[in-house]
Amino acid sequence: MFLSSPEHVSSYYANTCKAPYRAAQAGNLQTEVIIIGGGFSGLHTALRLALAGRQVTIIESSRVGWAASGRNGGMAILGWSCDMDPLEQALGQTDAKVLWDLMRWAAAELKDLPLSHGFDCDYRPGHLWTSVQTKRVAGLREWQQHAAVKWGYDRLQFIDKPELSDWVGSERYQAALFDPEGAHINPLKLALGLAAAIEKAGGKILEQTRALSYQEVGEQVRVITEHGQINCDVLVLACNSYIDELDPALNRKILPVGTFMVATEPLSAAQARALIPCNACVTDNQFVLDYFRLTADNRLLFGGGCTYLGGMPADFASAMRPNLERVFPSLRGVGIEYGWGGHIDISMRRTPEIGCRANVYWMQGYSGHGVLPTCVSGRVVADAILGSSDHLAIFRRLSHADFPGGRLLAPWFEAAGKFWFRLRDVI
Ligand SMILES: Cc1cc2nc3c(=O)[nH]c(=O)nc-3n(C[C@H](O)[C@H](O)[C@H](O)COP(=O)(O)OP(=O)(O)OC[C@H]3O[C@@H](n4cnc5c(N)ncnc54)[C@H](O)[C@@H]3O)c2cc1C
Repeated sequence: MFLSSPEHVSSYYANTCKAPYRAAQAGNLQTEVIIIGGGFSGLHTALRLALAGRQVTIIESSRVGWAASGRNGGMAILGWSCDMDPLEQALGQTDAKVLWDLMRWAAAELKDLPLSHGFDCDYRPGHLWTSVQTKRVAGLREWQQHAAVKWGYDRLQFIDKPELSDWVGSERYQAALFDPEGAHINPLKLALGLAAAIEKAGGKILEQTRALSYQEVGEQVRVITEHGQINCDVLVLACNSYIDELDPALNRKILPVGTFMVATEPLSAAQARALIPCNACVTDNQFVLDYFRLTADNRLLFGGGCTYLGGMPADFASAMRPNLERVFPSLRGVGIEYGWGGHIDISMRRTPEIGCRANVYWMQGYSGHGVLPTCVSGRVVADAILGSSDHLAIFRRLSHADFPGGRLLAPWFEAAGKFWFRLRDVI
């Protein structure tokens, strides 16, 4: 059961950004497009529709960016959570390449959005993908070659051990790939910037307005909310891990998995630069990965770890500190000022699910990698609503299985399945 809270959870982002309050629904409404969910998926879709002159309203049960979109690592990494192989197997190389090209479009769009709409989200270019284990360095070279040959992307730079200290100040890594088109951002600032742009373009956003159910009534869709009803021509479900009983069929196809991160106290500029001289965001290629980056005010933001059985650590700082200090022993004892967690929507094959049935559209299944993919899905769904559904047709060819065992047993199956992969990170 989805438990919301009326305010953002305490985090580095929520405590340092000023998020304007928006009114809740008052009375029954009629609109062209209703989007349920004020995270990146809903916001990107709404912005494109509002800019095209459509009458669009987002309803959000809490605040804009309340869930994963306002809490994530802010790492805008090219690619899908499942990597390219399952997409190529399911779609063939030509259509899988379309999805890769959409990802590159999203990376460029993310850079452009703050400039075109006049907001700041601390955009910084660069992603560094590191290898902890010597035996996995070959995997970096392999991806560099595949990216160039199969997907037409030749901008990845291989960095060998002797040069690595110019990029990241940790002895833990054996080699890395640098992607200049990846980037990092403050995700809550991005969500709030998108929301302001939507309103400027004529769209509406209602906070504290939870959708309870929906039904198709003739050519229209009726959404029942906690405050009344809203009739619309088109409904978009952008609820991520929280879809719950709003749509039980979609709910069965994703498993909410908890993940968490911390932010240190501000470091001196020199100390911060010594940790990540290239100021890129960093992820490693372990199965249970570490990810980290610097903030605009010189904190180290450090994340990783998953809880398949729900729940979150009682103390985020104690749970994350050993991992942080393993990467940067120089930070032993550093003050950790914030710790928070959120949920990601894992799909069975980690492939994204973007679909539609008549005038109901949905997007989910980002499987922990959603900063750029949500920008893609927002474009794909908005374009389909505007009459151009070629991209949506490609995504609809991906099949999505229910999790076996339902919400009760599926987390146990997943946790058991992951045990072997976790072992391979250390043997
Ligand atoms: C801790 C953490 C770190 C992450 N780090 C990264 C990262 O560095 N890079 C990356 O690419 N991805 C990352 N992700 C994943 C990424 O944040 C998500 O894939 C992405 O934000 C999903 O966006 P969304 O809009 O689909 O969902 P969400 O942001 O979860 O938004 C869904 C919204 O729908 C609302 N909602 C749901 N049901 C209803 C209802 N019935 N009525 C009204 N409103 C409703 C919710 O309140 C919520 O605000 C991370 C996720 C977490 C949790």
